[in-house]
Amino acid sequence: MKRLCLLIILALVLIAAFPAVGVAQDEIAVTFSDAAPYFPHRITFSLEAESSAQITDVDIEYRVEKLSLVPVSCRVDADFTPGLRVEASWDWNMLETGGLPPGSEIEYWWIVEDAVGRRIETPPRTVSFDDLRYDWRSLTSAPITLYWYRGDHSFAQELMDAAHEALGRLAEDTGVALERVVRIYVYGSFDDLRGALIYPYEWTGGMAFADHGTIVIGIAPENLSWGKSAIRHELAHLVVHQATFGPYGDLPRWLDEGLAVYAEGVLQLGLLQRLNEAISEDELFSVRSLASSFPTDPEQARLCYAESYSLVAFLLSEYGREKMLELLDVFKGGSGYDDALMEGYGFDMDGLNELWRASLGLGPQPTPEAPGGFFTCSIARKTGGGDERGLILLGALLLLPAMAFALHRARRGR
Ligand SMILES: [Zn+2]
Repeated sequence: MKRLCLLIILALVLIAAFPAVGVAQDEIAVTFSDAAPYFPHRITFSLEAESSAQITDVDIEYRVEKLSLVPVSCRVDADFTPGLRVEASWDWNMLETGGLPPGSEIEYWWIVEDAVGRRIETPPRTVSFDDLRYDWRSLTSAPITLYWYRGDHSFAQELMDAAHEALGRLAEDTGVALERVVRIYVYGSFDDLRGALIYPYEWTGGMAFADHGTIVIGIAPENLSWGKSAIRHELAHLVVHQATFGPYGDLPRWLDEGLAVYAEGVLQLGLLQRLNEAISEDELFSVRSLASSFPTDPEQARLCYAESYSLVAFLLSEYGREKMLELLDVFKGGSGYDDALMEGYGFDMDGLNELWRASLGLGPQPTPEAPGGFFTCSIARKTGGGDERGLILLGALLLLPAMAFALHRARRGR
């Protein structure tokens, strides 16, 4: 009896391991299946199948592993010529759909149909969209794994320490904690980073793929101190994104950026000076005007980041972390900016503006305010091929030093 059981188990294992073996002739048989990643531009999926009747339809369905409210899969037609034996393929062109961060896991399966109505669905397989152009080393300190290829171990360790400092500061002062694992890919230069992105901006120094829990960033070993701030900042965006993720979750810009700058640690001297200057001239932007996009002008944008920090620091010091957590929770449940503040603190954005200004020794907001405009550290939602991805572009706080660094390098005649 025991031997019979073993034989049955062995038979089942063999059938599972070699699905093409033992397929009856009156079924569609898959003889080959593969997915080849060519980071960052495309993944080529291939399939070979045969049947006793003409194969008339071959589709591929795939799903990207990421934070989502409901599992979303996409189905596309493969290229093939109908016949008894077919070679089918589909090229996922990221230039058309937008890119994925390195390390993305894609689950896929094929659906094949023939002329007599037979249909098979292959068992799901997974392909990793890895950037194989570099010799990555990795360092894990849960819940973060950092990948890098330039610089020694202590370079990576310092970046990892900075990331954990940011997590500690956020958890201690705001109560917000990371809920999922995070992967940080440290490219060895801005140029290398841009070579890993689809249509990057010229000045892109890093990017947080919030739904994927992945940060990609360009940090040369000699640019370590900028890199540490940049990692703290982007990590905070991920933490806050995870904590407020929901069908409605959308934060006012000053809160999202304010928490990110707060996570960096002490406010940078340049930003502090810009803030003090604006306070003494009574030229602060109002809380309401900081709720959406930030101005394109770099100096004004710097002031927006400094003010966002100041607002978050004010809320934390006056009302504590419990209120902040409550506020983020209200946003998660879906609430307008004014309603959420009212529910959490008992005042709206104008009320907050007044209290915050008073704490800085200022009276009512002067009118009119300087006009704002679009700025790039915002959550962009893109839909293409049914695959919706949310990504946070790098903040001005990162961009400005990044641009300064790039200019600096250019001036040195690099
Ligand atoms: Zn930011």
